[in-house]
Amino acid sequence: MTTLPEAKLFIDGQLRDAAGGRTYDVISPWTGEPVGKAADATAGDVEAAIAAARRAFDETDWSTNREKRLALVRKYRELFEAARPRLAELAIHEAGAAMGAIDKAHVALALQGWDDYLEVFDRVQWEKDYGNKFGYGYESHRIAVYEPVGVVAAITPWNVPLYVNIGKVVAALLAGCTVILKPAPDTPGAGAIFGELAREAGFPDGVINVVFGQNPAEAGEMLVKDPRVDLVSFTGSTAVGKRIMEQGAPTLKRVFLELGGKSAKIVLDDAPNFAMDVLTTMLIFHAGQGCAVQSRLLVPESRYEEARAILKQGYEGLGDNWGDPANPAHLMGPVINKRQMERVLGYIQIGQDEGATLLYGGRARPDKGSGYFVEPTVFVDVRNDMRIAQEEIFGPVLVVIPYKDDEDAIRIANESAYGLSGGVSGSFDRAMKIARRIRTGSVGVNNGMCIAGDIPFGGYKASGIGREWGVEGIEEFLETKMIAYPAGA
Ligand code: NAD
Repeated sequence: MTTLPEAKLFIDGQLRDAAGGRTYDVISPWTGEPVGKAADATAGDVEAAIAAARRAFDETDWSTNREKRLALVRKYRELFEAARPRLAELAIHEAGAAMGAIDKAHVALALQGWDDYLEVFDRVQWEKDYGNKFGYGYESHRIAVYEPVGVVAAITPWNVPLYVNIGKVVAALLAGCTVILKPAPDTPGAGAIFGELAREAGFPDGVINVVFGQNPAEAGEMLVKDPRVDLVSFTGSTAVGKRIMEQGAPTLKRVFLELGGKSAKIVLDDAPNFAMDVLTTMLIFHAGQGCAVQSRLLVPESRYEEARAILKQGYEGLGDNWGDPANPAHLMGPVINKRQMERVLGYIQIGQDEGATLLYGGRARPDKGSGYFVEPTVFVDVRNDMRIAQEEIFGPVLVVIPYKDDEDAIRIANESAYGLSGGVSGSFDRAMKIARRIRTGSVGVNNGMCIAGDIPFGGYKASGIGREWGVEGIEEFLETKMIAYPAGA
């Protein structure tokens, strides 16, 4: 059995046990058995991390020395490159990633995102000249300078932990902020490695800190409430995102929120490859545990029966080709933990109770192992007002909704509390027209890919506030300061 190295905290330049030596077990989603140990941070540990990050921001040249931080972030990247095998182990054993997913968002695309940040760094605007203006009886020359916001708390989920940790930590460092990374309790190792490699890279003490613990809320709430933290960058559930806004209000915390989604893919009757477009929505990758997955498939009434037959054949074709940790072709493993498995199975029951037709799947699969396996599942005859069409399931459950015409498809896609991503496939001009009317942060037309480290990503409505990745992702961590002086000075 694999045993992961113990996940240690990283506070003020020191790799540390939690105060008092508290630890907790890290559970493998494949087996339900302990696969390692992690430090269980106390309030005192979190307090020390906040103090260190504050001091490093206020008292060192980290925030002003752009060349130094670019060089360190590059060196850090090289150390992560050398750690690829360990990153893959962590993704598999902590997050439950299947081997076929490692080359995608779990490791390869996460590191690619880091490279993209380094590439766009040159395009960050640090100053802007606003020219002269006459006012109050004299002429002033105005410039804007863009400065790091300060101490950043990066609170991250378990689904693609390396990807999200990079999305926040690298951007905040490049902007000149100091960071406290707080990964989810299920995936402490994917956070701890940021501490280990930061020490090796030689970051100044306090610039990066990593804290985690068994209690999902304790450390995060301390970070959100503390006046010494300037910005909270959070990815996770909409419920916790709302709580962060509430708890951050007394200190007027700046918040970046990347929350849930229930994204729609609209396949038009003139889609260039109708069968392929229907099949690409099969919710397999990482057992559907992705915020931007297209979990509502919208197909025209005129081709509904055809879509249903294509999906049945697709899921039957997939058969049992998932859930084997040793198979490099598999894209889907277990869901993260027992609670999540129960939640997903609960939604499958709700779908049946609501009158949707279970076309394929729907069961737990203990025969795959003692972990948390739910089979790929698809519901047809779904109405958009059903809970399985409105609520984020975060599991391998696709729902298929019929629509009458383009207007109806747009209405259904937009009748959602969420607005993260989506897709439209069909003849190009028609699909583009529809894409412009979908109220989401990204839309892929004819399977165009909107997720990459050099372009912004984020949500409308209950899917969040702000943008991660790209130049915009670095600029999220900047403040604007205007400076004016008498013209001609
Ligand atoms: P979560 O929102 O509960 O937790 C995300 C992070 O926030 C974790 O680090 C957690 O420890 C921390 N946290 C929890 N309570 C907090 C609080 N009160 N204050 C500050 N931080 C707090 O998400 P989860 O438990 O990891 O997953 C639950 C649901 O969230 C999933 O079922 C799914 O619907 C959704 N989810 C969404 C995404 C996404 O990318 N949009 C990712 C993971 C999970």
